[in-house]
Amino acid sequence: MKNFEDLGLSPALAKSLVHMKYTKPTPIQARAIPLALDGHDIMGTAQTGTGKTAAFAIPLVEKLLTDPRGSALVLTPTRELGKQIMDIMQQLLGPKSSIKTAFIIGGESMGKQVNQLRARPRLIVGTPGRINDHLERGNMMLHDTHFLVLDETDRMLDMGFTVQLERIFKYMPDKRQTLMFSATLPKNILKMSEKYMHNPQRIAVGETNVVARNIQQDVIRIEQNNKYPALLEQLENRSGSVIVFVKTKHGADRMARNLRRDGVQSDALHGDLRQNKRDRVMQNFRKQTFRVLIATDIAARGLDVPHIEHVVNYDLPQVAEDFIHRMGRTARAGAEGSAISFVSDQDSRKWHAIERLLNPDAANDRGHQNKRRPQNGKKGKPSRHKSSRGNKPHNGKAQNGKSQDGKPHNGKPHNGKPQSDKPRNGKPQNNKQGNKKRFHRNKKKAA
Ligand code: AMP
Repeated sequence: MKNFEDLGLSPALAKSLVHMKYTKPTPIQARAIPLALDGHDIMGTAQTGTGKTAAFAIPLVEKLLTDPRGSALVLTPTRELGKQIMDIMQQLLGPKSSIKTAFIIGGESMGKQVNQLRARPRLIVGTPGRINDHLERGNMMLHDTHFLVLDETDRMLDMGFTVQLERIFKYMPDKRQTLMFSATLPKNILKMSEKYMHNPQRIAVGETNVVARNIQQDVIRIEQNNKYPALLEQLENRSGSVIVFVKTKHGADRMARNLRRDGVQSDALHGDLRQNKRDRVMQNFRKQTFRVLIATDIAARGLDVPHIEHVVNYDLPQVAEDFIHRMGRTARAGAEGSAISFVSDQDSRKWHAIERLLNPDAANDRGHQNKRRPQNGKKGKPSRHKSSRGNKPHNGKAQNGKSQDGKPHNGKPHNGKPQSDKPRNGKPQNNKQGNKKRFHRNKKKAA
């Protein structure tokens, strides 16, 4: 399949694709769409920003258009991702579509959702918790819904939605088509797919444990207390939109406040905000009303804001895999991006887990080196560790807050050559579970 015309899609959908300027399918689309149109179950893994949403949305909309009685359910971990999916679905359906939809997420009025459900929507997009609420209250019927999509499945399971998902499956017919997408394939997902899917076709596009090649990564070794002034310096020296990841909801609010006090336009996004506030923050960030979004890992996955140029890991993620998802917020659709990670002594354990995930051979190698050789970074002063493009953040010499040429950043991504003491060029491993370390067995995450 070279272009969308080869698929013989319904004229309305073909027109929407032209309107959206989708001419050539991305690799995941080229593989998933024909299989889904043929009725296969799909178990798909793909890097973020690969066009995964349209890979399931195009066959889903085609089914709705060609089968007047067909209906579909899309489950997603967060409200923001749900909204993005809904936007793509609406664009694919087109402005004149008579197909009714419902957006069923937590934090919004039940009454409004009940009205949407009474109108017999043929497409429902939502988060598992709220969908369960409606099913249990008898507001929603799924016995006729034969098309199911699970997006970001690993994230849903990490957030503790396993039981909710299994309950939802029980309300659906056994004979259905299920498309499951996940960034990683841990055992619990494979088990779930064995139990609830019919001979799923496996599709893996790209390496899932790899940060996109066009992201320049910098690592700054720094004391915890110096992170905030270093952040201010980075923000001053860089241009363009920035997303800063922090550990806690409270920390996100506080940092946004402090940055505003220090003259930086910023706002916070986390799971404790009311839905309309979350929507407003995202809307304003998309419109570039403010420049710096401070977020918990609720924003690590899937958010598609093309103008984000820099990702800052102010706090490292609790789960190493989220590092890759955070990186995926920049360098969208082939653009360039940069990422900075602040690593303090307290972060060492998390940082090693991230290194092991990204580059297991080199991380092991460095583990031995570190035993012999103390760190270069001077206490109290930020030291920058510049990385080559791709997966390998590495040990550079202390730079005292300056880039390697001794000058501060000019706002553009670095193009510097890798340092001589970078770890050996171990190939990033493809999805080997043995290399993934989770810090918290506790499934409920801070976001
Ligand atoms: P996703 O991985 O679904 O978040 O998509 C990443 C970005 O790629 C989004 O901005 C999509 O609108 C865009 N995109 C997806 N598929 C295509 C395509 N076939 N042609 C052009 N842009 C696309």
